[in-house]
Amino acid sequence: MPIKTWELDSNFKNEILNEAGGEHLTACYQCSTCTLGCPITEIVPSYNPRKIIQMSLLGMRNEVLSNPDLWICAICQTCTARCPQDVVVGDVLAAIRRIAEKEEEAGNLKIESPRPLFEKAFLHTVEKYGRLYDIGLALEYYPKREGGTVSGIKAMMNDYKDFGMRMAFRGKMGPLGGHGLLKGVLPSKIKKTDVMKKIFEKVEGK
Ligand code: SF4
Repeated sequence: MPIKTWELDSNFKNEILNEAGGEHLTACYQCSTCTLGCPITEIVPSYNPRKIIQMSLLGMRNEVLSNPDLWICAICQTCTARCPQDVVVGDVLAAIRRIAEKEEEAGNLKIESPRPLFEKAFLHTVEKYGRLYDIGLALEYYPKREGGTVSGIKAMMNDYKDFGMRMAFRGKMGPLGGHGLLKGVLPSKIKKTDVMKKIFEKVEGK
């Protein structure tokens, strides 16, 4: 990709450094250890966290924020364990993703990934029940992802007939999981949901 020097944003790295987790950005010396050991590259060979960091340091703001690869990292922390510079790569990418989300909220960017919707649905579930509630998460996530309730339910059923059933049979979710037929189907709350609410209020600065 040719670099358009007139489009570089020299302040982009400062933006990232000012986000929580982004403070590691400038420690990277581009050795590529993170990328060579990343398990995601077995599925998406083009995925390259080193390159995202390099582009960020160069100030390629538009290219980085609109890059779909920004949303692929599964935060397995393999890269962080191996980085000779102690760069917490997952945190740096999370800091960049937050900037992208702010840009989308401001109407300047369209994020081509369903991941922000999934993460919001996940957090809403944890805030409400103090724990993950799979069915509640799915009922919030799929309709938003598909842009409608009917299409969302259809997409959910389609996915669940495959991995949902496998998770259920392994006791990870749904009616067959764990102790009791309805475990995972009906929401169960932790005892002190007010504590969880306070944690969310503090993080969100309410
Ligand atoms: Fe940069 Fe660390 Fe990745 Fe090397 S392993 S490229 S220093 S983030």
